[in-house]
Amino acid sequence: MRIGIGYDIHRLVEGRPLFLGGIHIPYEKGLLGHSDADVLLHALCDALLGAAALGDIGMHFPDTDPAFRGISSHILLERTWGLVSARFDTIGNIDATVFAQAPKIGPFRNAMAERIALTLAIDPDRVNIKATTTEGIGLVGSESAMAAMCVVLLD
Ligand code: MG
Repeated sequence: MRIGIGYDIHRLVEGRPLFLGGIHIPYEKGLLGHSDADVLLHALCDALLGAAALGDIGMHFPDTDPAFRGISSHILLERTWGLVSARFDTIGNIDATVFAQAPKIGPFRNAMAERIALTLAIDPDRVNIKATTTEGIGLVGSESAMAAMCVVLLD
């Protein structure tokens, strides 16, 4: 078995749609980045690449490459799984935490888990998504950013 960890953070700004865990969440702000800046999927990609010892998301999908401008992070996740699944058969489980002061993530977590499971061709019960605020502390607490951590087990 192989374990990988991923972490990511993006600025939360006005005038951008919010994509998180591969789904669109209606909100007044969105995450800023070269791609759609889906901080949860980026942490998941890094965890998958980490478990497979294949580097990190920036190596494979550099934000200096115009080909990735505005790209859906689901495409990045599909490509990441393409790299990882060439060497590993299955994902044991995925556990992730989203750090967001607002909006409430709870109502969307099942949809995120199902979307991720579909992309990776695994049962949704292998995907767990948690969310926490930071009690108003720091960049996440002031709604200037969202962050995510993710752990993946490969079999
Ligand atoms: Mg990122």
